[in-house]
Amino acid sequence: MNYLYEKVAYLRGLAEGIEVTECSKEGKLLIGILDVLEEFADALSDLNEEVEELDEYVECIDEDLSEVEEVLFEEDEENLLEDDLDLVEVECPSCGDTIYLDDEVMYSNDEETELLCPSCNEHIYVEPNE
Ligand SMILES: [Zn+2]
Repeated sequence: MNYLYEKVAYLRGLAEGIEVTECSKEGKLLIGILDVLEEFADALSDLNEEVEELDEYVECIDEDLSEVEEVLFEEDEENLLEDDLDLVEVECPSCGDTIYLDDEVMYSNDEETELLCPSCNEHIYVEPNE
């Protein structure tokens, strides 16, 4: 924005050089125009500062948003992983408690799976599923 002030200052110098004063009607007009030009430069400079502040603020919001997105995205991934786990219900023949098993553990081998009931510590035998 400084170049605007420089240009106005240059014109003011020129006006002084050719002795433009407010004594004549034209002089009044020219000096009035120079004053208005300086006000424009002021207004633009203020606006520029505000835009810069706003820019910084938006950048901060953007960074915060990225952090929030990261957390949300991680949670989403975790949920997806959990959804991928198909749990199979098995009822303990001894105590009747329901145990939830990961089907990959259950069907990973063709043989009978032996489990220990977490409630009564009895053995449970799960037949392989076709
Ligand atoms: Zn049991």
